[in-house]
Amino acid sequence: MTENFDVLIVGAGLSGIGAAWHLQDAFPWRSYAILEAREAMGGTWDLFRYPGIRSDSDMHTLGYRFRPWTASKAIADGPSILRYVRDTAADAGIDRRIRFGHRVIAASWSSREARWSVRAEHGGETSTLTCDFLYTCGGYYRYDQGHTPQFAGIEDFRGRVVHPQHWPEDLDYTGKRVVVIGSGATAVTLVPALADSGAAGVTMLQRSPSYILSAPKEDAVANRLRRRLGPRRAYAITRWKNVVVSTVIYQLSQRRPQMMRRFFRKQTIKHLPAGYDVDTHFKPTYGPWDQRLCLVPDGDLFRVLGEGGAQVVTDRIDRFTEHGIRLESGRELTADIVVTATGLELLALGGIELSVDGRAVAVPDTMAYKGTMLGGIPNFAFTFGYTNASWTLKADLVAEYVCRLLRFMDQRGFDYCLPVPDPSVTALPMIDFQAGYILRAVDRFPKSGSRSPWRVRMNYLRDIRVLRYGRVDDGTIRFVRASRASRPGRTAAEVRA
Ligand SMILES: Cc1cc2nc3c(=O)[nH]c(=O)nc-3n(C[C@H](O)[C@H](O)[C@H](O)COP(=O)(O)OP(=O)(O)OC[C@H]3O[C@@H](n4cnc5c(N)ncnc54)[C@H](O)[C@@H]3O)c2cc1C
Repeated sequence: MTENFDVLIVGAGLSGIGAAWHLQDAFPWRSYAILEAREAMGGTWDLFRYPGIRSDSDMHTLGYRFRPWTASKAIADGPSILRYVRDTAADAGIDRRIRFGHRVIAASWSSREARWSVRAEHGGETSTLTCDFLYTCGGYYRYDQGHTPQFAGIEDFRGRVVHPQHWPEDLDYTGKRVVVIGSGATAVTLVPALADSGAAGVTMLQRSPSYILSAPKEDAVANRLRRRLGPRRAYAITRWKNVVVSTVIYQLSQRRPQMMRRFFRKQTIKHLPAGYDVDTHFKPTYGPWDQRLCLVPDGDLFRVLGEGGAQVVTDRIDRFTEHGIRLESGRELTADIVVTATGLELLALGGIELSVDGRAVAVPDTMAYKGTMLGGIPNFAFTFGYTNASWTLKADLVAEYVCRLLRFMDQRGFDYCLPVPDPSVTALPMIDFQAGYILRAVDRFPKSGSRSPWRVRMNYLRDIRVLRYGRVDDGTIRFVRASRASRPGRTAAEVRA
């Protein structure tokens, strides 16, 4: 007997646990399970173990809408975020619904049965479960490997090369010279953490500068509100405050880039020692928010640069040598340890192979509907958070939308639904972001469309309108009763027609 569930959720990270919470809150009677490839929950916040690992968004928006973040630090360390996810799961009994060590490799939809067959690998075996609705929360990158460019001469290097995604527990960097390659969120987190915890000298080696903004580690307004109003009301107010502030910064960055360039530059100069070469190391060639902005809590990166515990070098790598890295300028950086904070290897939909009525789905040929379903794919939703705001803002909205969709179908006796593709809509990249790691992989993701409801917008306020309050039956999504669909020969493709 194949086990059947009303809903199968893929992934027990921040999104999967949130999805389960919404689902069981809305429908306590519905059966569901979470299939998780790893042996632990928490996803990103369990995987990454490098020194200083932390959020670079505030926890009032990276936290769930339904569970106040009550710690005083708004920019939180990885272990605290992991505890928050685990506590959420334990308090709601979600942890009992997780099947660890189950990697979903394929899912095939049958219109006749109005069901997904989901194939998962575990312990060297493959098993199949079925479900009415498949909800993927598998994140957006590969867990088994990060991105490491080919560096000439790397085999000559006598020291240790480490990727932050696989930080060795036994790595002793006390008294060692460390070079961190990169200028993104991971590099700017690692550099002060290593400098503050015993490395002899830390160099952040970047090809080109990023925008880096100092933000208070503790949100004084949030902490005061919590004392006065209690955690729930304070959290709701702070969440909105932070949504508004980050939206204003993002919108101004896009509309008034020159003004915002000047603003970021001024902030940077304020935190660095007089005479620091800001133009070489902190003047990006791209516009503000054309790539993700890096936050540094209480200016910790600038502080270690001022104290001399770390330096920034802006140059290109010629090759690795026995003792370090030779740069194109001819300079050589000596190192005992090189950390390649060179990014993630993106992966769409947890790498699951989808098929509908026997036909394989080419994910890059699909178009996202409302940023959470796919055109032509029945009873399927995915979570992909914001690139310009906290991931969870979107993850929560997607979960609310999935619940509205399921309720709508329950009330009217529908068994499945599918967004009907519109050939007149032009396909655009789903992630409209210029960072190298996105550009390398965006072609493997579903497309965004040129207009609503196919346009994937990185805009929380707009998404609230669409996902929380917009009509479910909007004319684009088609609802089907299985009895009709199960007539011989009637498939999702025919329903679409
Ligand atoms: C170092 C780092 C820092 C970050 N900081 C921030 C931040 O400050 N703010 C922000 O908004 N975002 C941040 N992000 C983005 C971050 O990934 C999201 O905030 C959030 O944690 C994503 O949660 P998720 O559950 O969607 O995905 P993940 O955390 O990636 O979890 C996905 C889970 O799904 C499982 N899975 C994947 N595929 C399958 C499969 N086929 N079968 C079974 N299980 C599967 C994985 O094992 C994993 O447990 C950061 C990312 C990184 C890497």
